[in-house]
Amino acid sequence: MASCAVAGRLLRGARVNISVENVRQVWPGRAGSEVVALAGVSHHFRSGKFSCILGPSGCGKSTLAQIVGGLETATSGTVTIDHPDRPGHAVPLGSQSVMVWQNQNLFPWRTILENVAFGLEMAGMPFAERTDRAMALIASVGLRGFEKHFPPQLSGGMRQRAALARALIMDRGVLLMDEPFGALDAQTKIVMQEELLKIFEATRKTVIFVTHSIDEAILLGDEVVVMTARPGRIKEVIPVDLPRPRSFDLVSTPAFGKLFDRAFHLIRDEVTKAMAEMNQPGSTT
Ligand code: ADP
Ligand code: MG
Repeated sequence: MASCAVAGRLLRGARVNISVENVRQVWPGRAGSEVVALAGVSHHFRSGKFSCILGPSGCGKSTLAQIVGGLETATSGTVTIDHPDRPGHAVPLGSQSVMVWQNQNLFPWRTILENVAFGLEMAGMPFAERTDRAMALIASVGLRGFEKHFPPQLSGGMRQRAALARALIMDRGVLLMDEPFGALDAQTKIVMQEELLKIFEATRKTVIFVTHSIDEAILLGDEVVVMTARPGRIKEVIPVDLPRPRSFDLVSTPAFGKLFDRAFHLIRDEVTKAMAEMNQPGSTT
């Protein structure tokens, strides 16, 4: 990464805690049926911590991320966001978070610079100021020299960096990431994971990172929130006490192996259940 220190200096957004209390989400299914995606999820995401949500496909991870980000309203239960230094002062959902998805949703007709500066443009920031900030963020994700390129001219990994810069520039307290590296090849994924580790070190935002990869969850997270197969509940929270700064070398250490085994045993049954469910006639997944 070119300069994570730049990201650290630029990104001093508010620190926030997120409390998810008994969140239940029921989606409309086929032919008037209902799909219970989340069946009472409660968790406290602490300020400045990197939390990974790990679970089998279809268990409700994206649903939870969208509810926490204020993009969907839960059927029941509450999500509250507050600043640790101003306890009791609740903040509107979504106002403190920004989301990064697997498909980067960059505008293909805008340059990388214009894509990264987009949020600030919408917020009414003057051209010179938003361009300065966007240039610094682009450099901090290793894309210096590609400011004038258009998204289709870049590789998948580079586009994902641009999407990360576009999210980071908003300087929100919460970074929500829903399988952001899911579509990348194995090597690019490792590079991106290491870059995200450095950005996290420099900015210490509250990160909620959705994944179905056990390695990724342990490598990145301060904790791994393991979910059950649908209807999604929290099965167990695994604290990850591995020291930071971290790099991919961690994956070959005995401490990592122990955590992997623990998560694997928890998740194996859930994946089997999810697969059995998917094979049912009339399944909505
Ligand atoms: P995951 O991200 O863990 O793969 P999702 O949260 O995407 O799981 O989905 C959980 C369940 O909710 C699935 O059965 C899915 O089909 C259903 N679902 C998700 N979003 C919607 C929606 N907008 N409308 C209807 N059903 C949905
Ligand atoms: Mg998902």
